[in-house]
Amino acid sequence: MKIRGSLLIGLRRGQLKLGGECLSAKAVVTQRGAVLLGDSVACDAFDETRPLRVVTHAHADHLLGLRQSLRSCEKVLMTAATRDLIGVVNGSLPLDDGSVELLDYGETVEYGDERVTLVKADHILGAAQVLVEDSDGGRVAYTGDFRVDGTEPLLGCDVLVVEATYGSPWFKRAFKVDVRELLVSMVEKRLRHGAVYVFGYHGKLQEVMQILHRADVSVPFVMPERVFRVSKVCEAHGMRLGCLALSTESEGKELLDGNLPCVAFYHMNSRRSVGLVGSSRICVSGWEFRSPCRQIGEREHLVALSDHSDFDGLIEYVRRCKPRRVVTDNYRVSHGVTLAREIRKRLGISAVAMPR
Ligand SMILES: [Zn+2]
Repeated sequence: MKIRGSLLIGLRRGQLKLGGECLSAKAVVTQRGAVLLGDSVACDAFDETRPLRVVTHAHADHLLGLRQSLRSCEKVLMTAATRDLIGVVNGSLPLDDGSVELLDYGETVEYGDERVTLVKADHILGAAQVLVEDSDGGRVAYTGDFRVDGTEPLLGCDVLVVEATYGSPWFKRAFKVDVRELLVSMVEKRLRHGAVYVFGYHGKLQEVMQILHRADVSVPFVMPERVFRVSKVCEAHGMRLGCLALSTESEGKELLDGNLPCVAFYHMNSRRSVGLVGSSRICVSGWEFRSPCRQIGEREHLVALSDHSDFDGLIEYVRRCKPRRVVTDNYRVSHGVTLAREIRKRLGISAVAMPR
């Protein structure tokens, strides 16, 4: 059964009776990376005890055991955009076999006495946070991956599971310049000399296309088939990306072979095999904190564009949410322990890293 409407209002905190021990059982990150919420939900990895699987977004480290979930779970919940993106990046998964149920942001599924809602997260197209409420007014939630500025805080949770990618105080991007503007001016300048190669991950590449398109960078965007198909999914879900061309077809080939003005978008994995002779190269990465832009090769630069919150953003999000307890995801990165310690120290909120 689905219900529409906001779940971020009408909190019943007065009804919460859970003590510390009960709270810790309400949200757990398992040794296999599943974020278990309430009694029925496993997020982002398969867990044999849970009838509902939620996929927060289409990045590989959030699709763990998805084939098994599609076989075993009663329902596999995700947004339509996430389903479409998974169909491109992992085309062999049986996403049309009936267990997949698509939810819009703010839409709710009931299971037993629990209600599961996906709430928008600013990360890649289709990304969602997960909120699980029970009939006693208990609320547990998982952020998935997110950037703090565009992500609605999940208020009044008993337990909040938060991602910890940049969970150490070393990971701060306190840049004075606008990284997007810098990226646009770098690309424009280098286009005067021919093709510019941009390397990044799925989702981020399309964000760069969107940034350039909005800034009226009107040269063709050339890309291999998988990047092209991901981009087409993004367009189908409302993103405007510009003029796209396949690198394997004549127009794209001519542009790249002739080093003519165009922007070529390739997955980070192709960095060592394409665009190596004579072209300008830009890698977009969140793992850069010293400066918004750094030269890493003769004609290659790293630009600090991230689709995750930095450390200050993670702390700020928890501060806004004011949960009773925090669990940091210590499975996908190893900074969960540090983040939990900093949340306890800076915010005075009970926090633990899982798995240990
Ligand atoms: Zn992600």
